[in-house]
Amino acid sequence: MRSRGDAGSAGCSEAAPPSCRGLASPTVACATVATKRFVIIGGGPAGNTCATHAARMGAEVVLVERDIVGGAAHLWDCIPSKAMIATGGALDLINHAHGMGITDTAASLDPVALRERIVRIEEQLRGGVSGLLESQGVRLVAGSGRLTSARTVALDRADGTEEVEADVVLLATGSRPRIPDWAPVDGRRVLTTRHAYPPEEMPSHLVVIGSGVTGVEFVHMFAAFGCEVTLIVSRQQVLPQKDPEVAAALEADFLRRGVHLVIGARAEGIDVDDSGIVVRCDDGRRVAGSHALLAIGSIPNSETLGLREVGVETDGGYVVVDHNCMSTVPGIYAAGDLSGKLPLSSVASMQGRKIAEHAMGLHAGPHRHLDYEKAASAIFTVPEIADVGLAEADAFAAGRKVRVTKVPFAANAKALIDGDTRGFVKIVSDPATGVVLGGSIVGRGAAELISVIALAVTAGLRVTDIVESLLVHPALAEALADAAE
Ligand SMILES: Cc1cc2nc3c(=O)[nH]c(=O)nc-3n(C[C@H](O)[C@H](O)[C@H](O)COP(=O)(O)OP(=O)(O)OC[C@H]3O[C@@H](n4cnc5c(N)ncnc54)[C@H](O)[C@@H]3O)c2cc1C
Repeated sequence: MRSRGDAGSAGCSEAAPPSCRGLASPTVACATVATKRFVIIGGGPAGNTCATHAARMGAEVVLVERDIVGGAAHLWDCIPSKAMIATGGALDLINHAHGMGITDTAASLDPVALRERIVRIEEQLRGGVSGLLESQGVRLVAGSGRLTSARTVALDRADGTEEVEADVVLLATGSRPRIPDWAPVDGRRVLTTRHAYPPEEMPSHLVVIGSGVTGVEFVHMFAAFGCEVTLIVSRQQVLPQKDPEVAAALEADFLRRGVHLVIGARAEGIDVDDSGIVVRCDDGRRVAGSHALLAIGSIPNSETLGLREVGVETDGGYVVVDHNCMSTVPGIYAAGDLSGKLPLSSVASMQGRKIAEHAMGLHAGPHRHLDYEKAASAIFTVPEIADVGLAEADAFAAGRKVRVTKVPFAANAKALIDGDTRGFVKIVSDPATGVVLGGSIVGRGAAELISVIALAVTAGLRVTDIVESLLVHPALAEALADAAE
């Protein structure tokens, strides 16, 4: 695969125009690279990463965003949810610090200060993203974008509509929470995640509907804030897509913290009155609380993009794309949640980068495509959960022979020092070659630690490469080397 650096050396000669920013040395220019006009609709991780990389490679880029650059990822999803979790974690740490030789530990939540903190973080990130885009010469347009043909995009701004021509169009409009007909969302008693940072009124008893990644993160954060929490689980385990051992560790922790689990029930209605809510389930169970929160997936923002008129094929509103993220119309790409692949910010950014490379002609020869199977992901509960690559349960289901090694954090010096020995590291490898195929981590720092296994999976490293790395002591990462042993 050719890297971004190759673009500069492949296309650059002599005097340096601004379009070579960040790639070539100041004395080298991109005179032989034909300028391409990109129009990008949506400024989330997919859109803004593509914009930056395309501009660095010499493209003229227009990015239209109707809300904020940084996207829903910064405004509604990754950032505010993790900021809430960080505050919950700080509360938890203080309130349980007596076990570490500290007395007089009692802390409580200030929801107003928390909301202000979330806004400050978002503003700082927004400044960084817009600054980067502007420094690369990307033209930012505040407004909504829609296709008017395969090569023209209408930019609907507050002061009128402008039509721009494009050689490359990227659709990166993301998704929004799914709200079924039976859920009377009012933002007061019945919430989506977008009403919860934190809600106007702190729930005394929150009923969370949906036990996927988003649902369990909200259970975790509101439990850490001291709310009573009930989780409605439609299947037989929380996190139905995850390794059962990982899900069991989280369930055990929820129960230890007093979270109520309603297993095997599907919500099908919510009654609301002044005193609270009652969730009606398909098996007749009724679950009462002060507030309900829906975490039952998302739907793509694609209705207003003019896709059908231009011939872009969709499936359930998601744009159908090939391995280069190109839609069924050449020159029109889709990335991020809209592409219906893994709905992760990290994946959206990588798609954006790969689209810029592909559209600028870097992938004419063989190259390493995006491999969604090797994407690391994390769930920011306590204990944290992270995984990458092949899961043990999937290997068994496929009848594939693997070597699975597991080490508990209870045997790790740093975990003992930190006062949190929950969880384990599990590494899945090929018994014949020792090549690392995947891994799961449950425990403090899992989201950071998984990077080592992710690198091993992507680079095709062997367990011995991890075992023979000279790691820091004492460190949680030593559990990785022990598990690889
Ligand atoms: C509660 C929650 C927490 C999450 N936490 C994480 C996490 O910790 N880590 C992680 O990797 N992923 C996380 N995700 C997933 C992640 O947020 C998404 O995968 C990511 O935001 C997708 O990026 P995107 O670029 O496709 O779209 P978005 O971030 O949704 O950005 C799309 C942008 O397009 C704009 N737009 C839409 N239509 C138009 C139009 N017609 N014209 C102009 N602009 C338009 C929108 O305003 C928006 O700004 C979380 C999701 C949720 C719901």
